[in-house]
Amino acid sequence: MLCRLGHLGLVVAALVSGASARPLARAAPVRSPQASPAASAAAAETKHRPSATVTAIVAPARIDARELKALTGDPVLGKADRIDGDERKGVVAFTFDDGPNPETTPQVIDALEKYNVPATFFIVTQRIAGRHGEGGRELVHREIDAGFIVGSHSVSHKNLRHAASEQLTREIDASIKALAAEADRPIGMFRAPYGALNTAGRARLKKLGLTEAFWSVDTRDWMAHSPSRLRKKVISMIKADGGGVVLMHDVKWITAEVIAGVLDDLEAENCARLASQREPILPVSIHYFLKDGKTPRAIPASVEQRTAAYEAALPERCAKRPPVTTAARPASRSVAMPTTKPDIQPSSGPVTRPEAVSAAKPAGKRVNKHADK
Ligand SMILES: [Zn+2]
Repeated sequence: MLCRLGHLGLVVAALVSGASARPLARAAPVRSPQASPAASAAAAETKHRPSATVTAIVAPARIDARELKALTGDPVLGKADRIDGDERKGVVAFTFDDGPNPETTPQVIDALEKYNVPATFFIVTQRIAGRHGEGGRELVHREIDAGFIVGSHSVSHKNLRHAASEQLTREIDASIKALAAEADRPIGMFRAPYGALNTAGRARLKKLGLTEAFWSVDTRDWMAHSPSRLRKKVISMIKADGGGVVLMHDVKWITAEVIAGVLDDLEAENCARLASQREPILPVSIHYFLKDGKTPRAIPASVEQRTAAYEAALPERCAKRPPVTTAARPASRSVAMPTTKPDIQPSSGPVTRPEAVSAAKPAGKRVNKHADK
């Protein structure tokens, strides 16, 4: 791990005067899970707690502003205007929040790799801290090594709608520090828990050069109970909107179960479009939704090449697909899931309650017409 920190340590040291230069501190440590009954009760009341094994966060030391600048100075992903997901049509960017979770995230990564689909993971850094975070840290490295983007989703998934400076420091600054150290690279994107951020929070992101990442396709996978219905709903929403930024949660068992089916549906849809000479909805990296003011940000050549390669490979992938019949396509194994499975991941505590979108969505945004009930 020290070697991973080496590069950033040098960057930081170069920017910080010699006397104040110090090694990059690690993520805020987490306390032992089996705390007092009072602590357990308090934890049980927590609305959204990514890990059942964490009950308290030790407040991080104040982070040197110059040091943070070095951790957020991503020239490609940072400093853009807020992503809303409606910046482009004809492309779709998948995003997964609240992870990593060793119980569910690997299945999501496997599916993305199988279908050659880029994605962004917004990490709750409490999950990669301390001795309980080892599995999570390994997953972050797997995501990065496989070419996925990682952004911050705060330290502990608190609602920041009314957050004051101290809490912003604890949740934004500290998560960036932890994630940049683990990723060994600057972090350019932040997604607020529940999408909720106040003026002070947005000012903090701007100061740090972080791009706020919202979404346009709210699958509400976190409240879904039926894999088959969720699968159908996600692809129909993507088709209805002609793409966008899709919000899902890799910590949810149901998402892990259906994502391969969703990506298969997307491929099938694109094959059908190809056959009828219509434009496909290409799965792309979130780069395609970056904008500066109203100007789309230039797409890095390597990212464009990946999209072009996907498009070029599509005819061959389509040729290998089983012929489409008028009957329903063969159900994925996810559809055969027992319906009695609870809507929580096995290792998790209380049911997570991710993005409360209806409340967080800015005024005037499209209302989700595809409730999962
Ligand atoms: Zn979340």
